[in-house]
Amino acid sequence: MKKRLTRRARAMIRRSLTYFPELQGKSITVGYTRAHLGSAVLSYRRESEPRLVIRLKVRKLTYQTIGHELTHLVQGLGRGHGNRDSPFGWQSIPSGEKQCDIWTLARDPLFCDDTPTYLRLPRAMREHWQDYAEEVRKLSIAAIKKRENLRLYIRWFEGEVRKLAKVGRRKPAPEQLVLPFPDWE
Ligand SMILES: [Zn+2]
Repeated sequence: MKKRLTRRARAMIRRSLTYFPELQGKSITVGYTRAHLGSAVLSYRRESEPRLVIRLKVRKLTYQTIGHELTHLVQGLGRGHGNRDSPFGWQSIPSGEKQCDIWTLARDPLFCDDTPTYLRLPRAMREHWQDYAEEVRKLSIAAIKKRENLRLYIRWFEGEVRKLAKVGRRKPAPEQLVLPFPDWE
């Protein structure tokens, strides 16, 4: 069952890759999957570069999904391979699904077009993701900084996200921004 990537998927992947300097110059095999989530695999062969494979569900493909799988490749490459090309001064990306979500959100707003899968987010936030995406991305960047001296940085992140959801949706309607006029009478 060999199916070609759609032109749209190909363009989305190419665009995503411009945000992954760590993967520059490496060849990545992209396949389809019917499974609910995508997957990423590095297969190591002796004496040669690991083979990088990602599988994506193409129906309703999002940058979030592509970014998540590419981040897995960077996670894999980081282990024992040195990762000096990483942007933002990231030494390496710790392994794990939640970690993968946090580092994907932080990388670029492009990858915030849909909710991350593994992080615990309040339902209201999942339902109105676009209203929160920018703030949640800021929290993901803050969490990565926190990690330097806070072991439970993911718990910190999820706590902050809960607070954010309690405050309510961002982006108030313009009318709400109008300051009350003093009464001159
Ligand atoms: Zn994953």
